[in-house]
Amino acid sequence: MIRKNIPVNTPLLNGNEEKYLIECIQSGWISSEGPFIKKFEEGFANYIGRKEGVAVANGSGALDIAVQALNIGKGDEVIMPTFTIISPAQSIVRAGAIPVLVDSDPVTWNMNVSEIEAKITKNTKAILVVHIYGLPVDMDPVLKLCKKHNLFLIEDAAEMHGQTYNGKRCGSFGDISTFSFYPNKHITTGEGGMIMVDDSKLADRCRKLRNLAFEPSGRRYIHNEIGWNYRMTNMQAALGLAQLEKIEKHLEIKREIGKTYQNNLKKLKGFQLPLEKTEYSENIYWVFGLVAETEEYAEKVMNHLRNNGIATRPFFWCMHEQPIFEKMGLFLNEQYPIAERIARNGFYVPCGLNLSQTEISEVCNILNHFIE
Ligand SMILES: *Cc1c(COP(=O)(O)O)cnc(C)c1O
Repeated sequence: MIRKNIPVNTPLLNGNEEKYLIECIQSGWISSEGPFIKKFEEGFANYIGRKEGVAVANGSGALDIAVQALNIGKGDEVIMPTFTIISPAQSIVRAGAIPVLVDSDPVTWNMNVSEIEAKITKNTKAILVVHIYGLPVDMDPVLKLCKKHNLFLIEDAAEMHGQTYNGKRCGSFGDISTFSFYPNKHITTGEGGMIMVDDSKLADRCRKLRNLAFEPSGRRYIHNEIGWNYRMTNMQAALGLAQLEKIEKHLEIKREIGKTYQNNLKKLKGFQLPLEKTEYSENIYWVFGLVAETEEYAEKVMNHLRNNGIATRPFFWCMHEQPIFEKMGLFLNEQYPIAERIARNGFYVPCGLNLSQTEISEVCNILNHFIE
């Protein structure tokens, strides 16, 4: 039998990507000063429904800037999910603030919003929501809490390009919302990210922080605070603009992939599949995840898929179980049983925009046969 090789993801670069990139080369605009930056920022902000977009080097950097721009620092607490990528937690910790964790919802895998209020103290400055894997966090209760307790909302929408919550786009809720354009996201710039805000002063502050905190006016090379070089290049923005032109198509493809998996895996025993929809949104399947009944079983199935040339990735690992945070004395003896189970028993299968229906059937056949 011929060995298959199905990667978890490959990007879809079939629009104006090449044309716009060639424009960068021919015009000589390759740095962050080039004209595609503004076009991409305005185009994406407009699509999400925000006044301002600030393009940056990656989604993790966008979170660093978000935390600092809201003046969150030493002793401040930020409530966030334990089940997520490390990016938001490291932004909070680097700023000298303290992440305060909540467990996951067992069916959506998003943060369990009913646990938030009990975690609010006089030091709480913000709630940071992370929309996980294709379904949004239940935002209404979070928005209510932010209002009631006068807290900032930071929204990590790195997996949610184009997703909506009750008809309103993810990334339009936060005082600051952030996106990533890593190649496995719904639209990509290779590496890249964007910060979304409505307040123009806050946007200026974010622009300043992405550019070594140079003062926009006054003598160059004199600084009143420290920032980062998180600038995006014109070449990345060129890719981004071309991708943005076909974002609806990308979402359609992702939903189709998700649907095909759902249909082919209906009879699969011993696994929890992603929800197709909730009362407030339809899944956009950033990844197609499966949660096994035990960790051993998850490993066994991942191995079997690997032996058949099919790539998988394990789920995120909880923040309260990260060795680095334990070393720093954070989250000692804290337990979040649902997130722990999802993290240990979960993995995802190929879900990239180039995946063919035949490839999905192959993955499903191998899974269904193995499990029988
Ligand atoms: C991908 C991702 C990030 C990080 O983005 P990078 O561009 O890789 O730095 C942050 N948060 C979430 C939820 C993500 O999925």
